[in-house]
Amino acid sequence: MYDVIIVGAGPGGSVCGKTAAEAGLKALILERGSYPGAKNASGCALSPKLWRDFEFMKDLDVPSQRTCRIHTSHFVDENLREEFAFSQTPSKRLNTYKEAKEFFTVNLYRSEFDPWLAKLAEEAGAELQTSTTVVDLSRNDKGKVDGVITDKDERIKGKIIIGADGAWSIVAKRAGIRAKWQKDEVTLVVSYDFKCESKQLVDDIIGDNAIHTWLGGGFPGAYQFFKADGFHLGLGDWLSNWDKNPRTHLETALKVEGVRKLIKLTKAKFREFHAHLLPWLKYPGKTYTDNVMLIGDAAGFPCPLEAEGIWYAMYSGQIAAQIAKKAIDANDTSKVFLKQYEDAWKESEIGVEFEAGPELQEFWANLPFAPQNMAWFSQLMNDNYAIFTTGEAHITYFRRFQELLIDQAEVIAPFVIRYMLPLFGKAFKQPLSDMKTVQQMMKQFTKPKKKKK
Ligand SMILES: Cc1cc2nc3c(=O)[nH]c(=O)nc-3n(C[C@H](O)[C@H](O)[C@H](O)COP(=O)(O)OP(=O)(O)OC[C@H]3O[C@@H](n4cnc5c(N)ncnc54)[C@H](O)[C@@H]3O)c2cc1C
Repeated sequence: MYDVIIVGAGPGGSVCGKTAAEAGLKALILERGSYPGAKNASGCALSPKLWRDFEFMKDLDVPSQRTCRIHTSHFVDENLREEFAFSQTPSKRLNTYKEAKEFFTVNLYRSEFDPWLAKLAEEAGAELQTSTTVVDLSRNDKGKVDGVITDKDERIKGKIIIGADGAWSIVAKRAGIRAKWQKDEVTLVVSYDFKCESKQLVDDIIGDNAIHTWLGGGFPGAYQFFKADGFHLGLGDWLSNWDKNPRTHLETALKVEGVRKLIKLTKAKFREFHAHLLPWLKYPGKTYTDNVMLIGDAAGFPCPLEAEGIWYAMYSGQIAAQIAKKAIDANDTSKVFLKQYEDAWKESEIGVEFEAGPELQEFWANLPFAPQNMAWFSQLMNDNYAIFTTGEAHITYFRRFQELLIDQAEVIAPFVIRYMLPLFGKAFKQPLSDMKTVQQMMKQFTKPKKKKK
């Protein structure tokens, strides 16, 4: 009998197994892939939060990693030509710890990261069994979950089962926590993986400018993450939003002039196509029941703005293992006891992130993922910078831009009122109804213009 059986050796499962084993629990991790990471999205970007919260991250050293210090956002027009772009580096004033001041992400392949993490869990004492798919949960004579059933018809008993089995979570379904995601709760992410000619060439051309996002152009925002000697070009949207085959949009993104240039410069060759589901919720649903807890994607934890999910999986995995230890020590694994897990993640930074879940998600869905809005937004950003160009007197540009803002108010103001003010309301902890001054100001803009005599 295991204290905890963890289904899935993704980042969440491995950190959960490591934490549980370190706490002295008998932990088993079951993974359907022939090795951890074999079945996962092949490339990803790890946020600095991992280095802040997990001491072991300082030892990460895998061949594919590339640190991203500069992120460039490209806005493209309907002809897929660049209209406006900006680059950013980590804010030295808003960030509070060293790594966040130094880099945005470390990009790497999951086929290297997941085995590295799983090995740490094994070294801590957790057992890892690969090529094993959990197909059901077993129940005792009182109807309570008491173990898992695998595709080899093994019945393995455990006091607590942790669903770390990602977006499709069989544990969530069989435990009766969730039937399936609604179409507006889950995204389909498609990506092309490219291999560049050499690491040296990527060093020379890209260096640490290792994330490029491509916005506008009629497709939902696409991202390009450069690893040591390769990159991913990917995009996603909620299942409820796809108007055509997502791969068609990815093909369009591939035709963007800037993307083609980077492919040419890095001498990149197409390697693989991937399609994965990724939960993207306004707020996570239930995450526990008797003898069961869900972590990471299985729980719906990817962040509501950009669906970053790896830190959320690892952090929730750590919390779940800590609560499992308490439950086993107290000899009480009932849902009444395990509610402490939900209380704990709500109090953690995961809960803080979801304080503005609906507002963050609405904002993202209606800007980067809404090409029709990106079209005016991109043009407006570009017009703004016309102030610094030399075609006419600078003050003339200033005046024209002011006139343009008033002229475009009917497009801009509804967007600001619907999607930006609610976000500001949450940020300033002030309900929208108290922000009357700003609302009135915006309404002024939307008033029909008086006709010139
Ligand atoms: C294309 C794409 C790109 C992404 N990029 C980023 C990124 O750059 N940065 C970021 O932070 N997040 C990113 N995410 C989100 C991130 O991948 C997930 O949030 C994260 O992997 C969740 O970790 P997890 O451990 O909960 O689940 P997963 O990583 O999905 O791991 C689940 C594991 O469970 C195994 N499994 C599933 N079912 C069973 C079963 N029945 N029996 C046994 N084993 C099972 C799977 O094989 C897998 O190994 C991306 C997602 C996608 C789809």
